[in-house]
Amino acid sequence: MEKLVKALEAAMAEDIKQLPWMSAETKVEARKKLDSIRDKIGYPEKWRDYSKLEVKRDDLLGNADRNLLFEEKRNLAKLGKPVDEREWGMTPPTVNAYYNPPQNDINFPAGILQPPFFDNSMDPAVNFGGIGVVIGHEMTHGFDDQGSKYDLNGNVRVWWTPEDLAKFKERTECTAKEYDGFEVAPGQKLNGHLTLGENTADNGGIRIAYQALMETIAKGGGPGAGFYGGKKDGYTPAQRFFISFGQVWCQNATEQSARVLAKTDPHSSGEWRVEGHGAELRGVRKGFWMQGRAADGCGQRLPHLVARSASDELRRNEGERLRERLERRPWRRFGPLLWVGGEVRSKMAPGLCGGGFAGLPCLTLSRRASVCNIHCRGDA
Ligand SMILES: [Zn+2]
Repeated sequence: MEKLVKALEAAMAEDIKQLPWMSAETKVEARKKLDSIRDKIGYPEKWRDYSKLEVKRDDLLGNADRNLLFEEKRNLAKLGKPVDEREWGMTPPTVNAYYNPPQNDINFPAGILQPPFFDNSMDPAVNFGGIGVVIGHEMTHGFDDQGSKYDLNGNVRVWWTPEDLAKFKERTECTAKEYDGFEVAPGQKLNGHLTLGENTADNGGIRIAYQALMETIAKGGGPGAGFYGGKKDGYTPAQRFFISFGQVWCQNATEQSARVLAKTDPHSSGEWRVEGHGAELRGVRKGFWMQGRAADGCGQRLPHLVARSASDELRRNEGERLRERLERRPWRRFGPLLWVGGEVRSKMAPGLCGGGFAGLPCLTLSRRASVCNIHCRGDA
């Protein structure tokens, strides 16, 4: 995990260096901020003491009440004391991650360091496509529409030249406009400004994670060189990267919930978190099945990813087989199940997709769900 974070930081440094629109002056400041990011991985250096919190097995409301009081006291006790930069805003078992602007730190609780995000038995492509993108996402939050207002010490300070700031705003407006056009339910579109910070983080995250993977492959001997660069389960590293990424955001939602979230959630829906920028990543051209698409939206819009066609019958059979397999192996439900069998490959089943990569198998998800969620996008 530490290696992954370092690889992502190196990729971001390179990305900043190569930004064509940012002045050398602002780049120096951006680099300083990047170098100052504190990495918090797994669990806090100092454990929080819960010994004074009474938890009773048969008293849910009482537990909630006592917990509230405990937290309040804990927070009030901070008054007048220096900020504890080692403090975590999430507990270690939490399946989530965050960037905290006032502390300029990225945080990855142990809970997220498991499939589909991370699996140390998998090759780098899968992990860069999962937790790698999350790492890149959190790092990019330091430079999104909100994070960019904070300096390397976590203080609100303008560290951009006015010209660069204007160019940055122009670009973020473009992103907002693009996401304004994405539909989550008939007539219900995303709110590009509400989701701007998260979309920026998503776009930056996948971009630098992909760069970091390519860099790692190059160091490992170049494409085709065995474990790092060669095909595995019939897929190239680039393909495995994007499938792994699609699996992370595979989800199921009712139309009503999708409508509510479009108005209230600063994150785009899983579908658009994958599809929204997957289409823009130039690197996918090399790695995926795709077909051309005309340019629209921000800058160059790259081809949508389209699965190779297979006969409907074949697709249906594959879908059924896969479902049966899941039923028989419930313990595998929450892993990156794509790799369970070789059959899925490029012949796709209806009802299975990669969180937006229409037609690709998508087999992860919610630990709260009793069965594996299968989110489907009907078209390509
Ligand atoms: Zn985020």
